[in-house]
Amino acid sequence: MNIPKSNLPRVVIIGGGFAGVSLSKKLANKNIQIVLIDKHNYHTFQPLLYQVSSSGLEPDSIAYPLRKIIKKHKTSFFRLAEVETIVPKQNKIVTTIGDLNYDYLVIATGTKTNFFGNKTIESNSMPMKTVSQALDIRSLILQNFEKAAIASTKEEREAYLNFVIVGAGPTGVELAGAIAELKNHILPRDYHDLDTKDMRIHLLEGADRVLPPMSFHASKKAQQFLKALGVEVHCNTFVKDYDGISVTTNSGLIMQSETLIWAAGVTGAPIKGLNANTLMENANRYRVNHFNQVEGYDNIFAIGDIALMETKSYSKGHPQVAQPAIQQGILLGKNLIKLINKKAMVPFEYKDKGSMATIGRNKAVVDLKHYKFGGFFAWFIWMFIHLMSLVGFRNRIVVLFNWTYNYINFDKAARLIIRPFKK
Ligand SMILES: Cc1cc2nc3c(=O)[nH]c(=O)nc-3n(C[C@H](O)[C@H](O)[C@H](O)COP(=O)(O)OP(=O)(O)OC[C@H]3O[C@@H](n4cnc5c(N)ncnc54)[C@H](O)[C@@H]3O)c2cc1C
Repeated sequence: MNIPKSNLPRVVIIGGGFAGVSLSKKLANKNIQIVLIDKHNYHTFQPLLYQVSSSGLEPDSIAYPLRKIIKKHKTSFFRLAEVETIVPKQNKIVTTIGDLNYDYLVIATGTKTNFFGNKTIESNSMPMKTVSQALDIRSLILQNFEKAAIASTKEEREAYLNFVIVGAGPTGVELAGAIAELKNHILPRDYHDLDTKDMRIHLLEGADRVLPPMSFHASKKAQQFLKALGVEVHCNTFVKDYDGISVTTNSGLIMQSETLIWAAGVTGAPIKGLNANTLMENANRYRVNHFNQVEGYDNIFAIGDIALMETKSYSKGHPQVAQPAIQQGILLGKNLIKLINKKAMVPFEYKDKGSMATIGRNKAVVDLKHYKFGGFFAWFIWMFIHLMSLVGFRNRIVVLFNWTYNYINFDKAARLIIRPFKK
């Protein structure tokens, strides 16, 4: 892998997501050799993927080159590779570009889409976990509009204009709102040969309310906002199957749709090689102690979505969102320096900064510890926090410009089928 030998301790970080990046920054220029490995050469700001899917933002405004993040870190290296196996007895990882030894290994591989074992749904639906998947959704939506415009029967046209989103967590709710904006503002202007009424957006949720991880107040408000936008919400509804055109559910609901977007859950993305009992069944997350050490290993750590740390307040692990990943990355940086200097490590304590979701162009819901609110002000807060959390000054400016332009003009400028999606 062409990493120079040195006398410095080597920390290998697998994954340049929120957790891996915050750790790399914390360890920068600290007399430690860092090797950051990712299968993509960029960091993805996943909270805004839905805006790429719905033509609101260009993909390069939510992605950032990992090499650029570490360019001023003199003893840091980046390698574009997929890590295939860990060999703990030899302190070694096996990757698609060769093997590498480590003194300390940090697994920050996040999650992948969970289809709960349903292969038919997996091969016919659209997941939204990576930039290229978001681009596929964008192409498919726009291709469907084009096909609907030339459909010869009403049934055919309706199937192209029926959008089914499975899972009404923050991702599903935000995407449904954004697709509804396409229906309400873009379709009537760009496709005057199509009847807007033919386009329907169905949001399916297994629980009895939308946004199940948030408060009842947020769920109620979000449901109102979705209804106002014309999204049809179906709670207590599980998708049983989807063959690429017919959606069948537990409640007997059968609809025809060319597009089923799967936002119903994630599962960890572990790497083979560690003892089987280190993984929490079902969740596929590594069990870690309060210092993020993987159970049974002194020099292997897991942080972010892939780590499962049981605490009094979080008996099933921390929520799989950005803040625990960032906070664990920062603390592990400090702790690794302590460990190398033979000092005692500090246990992790999660500081919950609240959660939020946006619905359409000027509505959002925010849950803080002592205060819950929704509406325009919540949307403003949502925008500010997402803007400031983006990596890179250029990306912040580009996103701010796009949002302002889209807001004033009721537009979504990235309506391009650059890479057609083939089902
Ligand atoms: C659509 C969507 C919307 C979301 N919205 C929000 C939100 O609004 N707010 C919020 O707080 N959270 C949100 N989340 C969750 C949040 O993005 C995650 O909790 C966060 O990204 C976790 O960070 P991480 O570093 O653990 O993993 P990730 O950010 O997923 O990073 C993992 C990295 O590891 C790399 N990788 C994986 N396996 C390998 C391998 N074998 N070899 C090499 N590299 C590998 C991947 O390429 C990736 O870069 C959203 C997630 C999604 C998918």
